[in-house]
Amino acid sequence: MHNLERDRGEGKRRVNFSFTQVSNYLRCPRSYRYRYLEGWREKETWAGMVFGRCFEKALAALFLQEDCAATLFREWGAYRDASLEYRKGESWDRLVHEGVRLLEHFARDNRIHIQAPQENLQIKLVRALQGDHEFVAYLDAIGQLDGQPCVIDWKTTTSRYAEEPEGLLALDPQLICYSWISGIPEVALVVFVRKRVPEIQYLKASITGKQRQEFGQLVEATVQQIASGEFPAHSGIRFPQNGCVSCANLGLCLNNQQLIDTNLIRSSGASDLDWLDELMD
Ligand code: SF4
Repeated sequence: MHNLERDRGEGKRRVNFSFTQVSNYLRCPRSYRYRYLEGWREKETWAGMVFGRCFEKALAALFLQEDCAATLFREWGAYRDASLEYRKGESWDRLVHEGVRLLEHFARDNRIHIQAPQENLQIKLVRALQGDHEFVAYLDAIGQLDGQPCVIDWKTTTSRYAEEPEGLLALDPQLICYSWISGIPEVALVVFVRKRVPEIQYLKASITGKQRQEFGQLVEATVQQIASGEFPAHSGIRFPQNGCVSCANLGLCLNNQQLIDTNLIRSSGASDLDWLDELMD
């Protein structure tokens, strides 16, 4: 979370944009308006999502040569009595045991190396944009996979990531973004698959210079559209895939109070543009 820097002298705002913001706008500009202008945000109730954040702290502890299992118990322990939604078959205990087994598996694999982990984990990178704005990204890590230098992103999930057709990963917009902002062509996803027999996928991709250039252009174009206040509803509905069904803001678009109460909370003061004071990455 970062403070908005305002150029008060000229009355301009310098806004920090993130990959999440840009992709949210591209998915549906109306959804962007709800989240970033009006302050509506999805309630964080899914246990798996909260656990994923705790697990990443345990991973950091592993690289820092601290007790990663103890870190996981401590971080996840804070949510032991929280009212989170667990999927069928999940429980607080089951998640922590899956997490510990994945950490052990990861340590045994020994395929990722990160030099100077204090500097190369959770790296903040900033790139200047037109209009005095900035793009900010937090990279999970810069290190080596099987000896090859790359940008690394951790994911925790309950199902494997698709690996085919070949080259699919190089189309992942978040990895393209990380390559663009870091200037590093090689990227990797390390996917921690939480299942009965834990699995870790080490997926590599090379991002081309052209992809990085095009992503930069996409960011600039998107920021210009946001700056000009264009927020049309654009759900991309195409039967049978209806993006609105999985959109947390559906209650706002349908004026359905029950759905709003179930899925959303609103940040206080959002209506006077305090939304700009925060950036979720
Ligand atoms: S419900 Fe559909 S139209 Fe409304 S914000 Fe979500 S994706 Fe956009």
